[in-house]
Amino acid sequence: MTKNELEALKLEGFMQQQDKEYFSLRILTDAGNLSSNEMVCLAEISELYGNGYMGFTTRQCVEIPWIREDLIPEVKKRILNAGIKTGGTGTRVVAVAACKGALCRFGLLDSQEIAKNLDRKFLGIDLPGKFKIGVAACPNNCVKAPISDLGFLAQNEPKVETDMCKGCKICERTCKVDAISMVHKKAVIDYDKCISCGQCIKACPFKAMKLDNEGVAVYLGGKFGRNLRIGNRLKKLYQPDELEVITEMVIEYYKNNAIKGERLGMTISRLGFNHIKNALDI
Ligand code: SF4
Ligand code: SF4
Ligand code: SF4
Repeated sequence: MTKNELEALKLEGFMQQQDKEYFSLRILTDAGNLSSNEMVCLAEISELYGNGYMGFTTRQCVEIPWIREDLIPEVKKRILNAGIKTGGTGTRVVAVAACKGALCRFGLLDSQEIAKNLDRKFLGIDLPGKFKIGVAACPNNCVKAPISDLGFLAQNEPKVETDMCKGCKICERTCKVDAISMVHKKAVIDYDKCISCGQCIKACPFKAMKLDNEGVAVYLGGKFGRNLRIGNRLKKLYQPDELEVITEMVIEYYKNNAIKGERLGMTISRLGFNHIKNALDI
């Protein structure tokens, strides 16, 4: 098989294994979800064309290894009939990852819905390098948003209504980063420690802990792998309905400013954070 043929297959999700004889098929999920019918179809493929098992990747994809080259056309037919998406490789927008969001007791927004919408709009757009998007619904950050090329992290910023505070200390016990202390029997927040998880707001039985500001923090140019880079955070919080436009602008900036093969973080390091900040103007 020629290099170009291998590259074309890779784009469709069939990656040649180290042994050079077999292929591993990468399947894309909907923000980490597959229907039971899709799972049955994948189980059948792994049973009939692979070695009877499949694995899960860190970016919420599924891989079925040990597929012989001559069986690839049959596998493609089954995948097509089941409406399953494959790919997630190469220099383009790859699978948008999301945490459990509104299903999770800590979730501040529906990260899965946001990820699905972004996936529908941007998945597969060709770019100078790989482009990963992550959406986390709270600062527990299960999806590691700040080390995605574009990371979204939901935040709820609290403030104490001192007159209403009864000094019960429930918020102090709730805060996992010790950002709350009692001063003259009133709760006081140390904003240098607070990570805006919003849990103290939910916990206060007297409604003295108020929601001061809510939204989504945006991180640009994060990356894991050989050269770890934490994304630069834009200062403001943004609303969920702004994230699509922000994604569009960041992708446009990346297309216009990156050198081929360069990840967004490298572009930001080369041109300076102010360059992208000024260009986005958000
Ligand atoms: S990031 Fe927060 S909301 Fe999302 S799964 Fe983790 S703990 Fe739950
Ligand atoms: S939980 Fe509410 S009432 Fe109790 S100390 Fe905290 S802010 Fe005050
Ligand atoms: S929002 Fe979270 S981190 Fe901040 S003070 Fe409340 S519980 Fe602590």
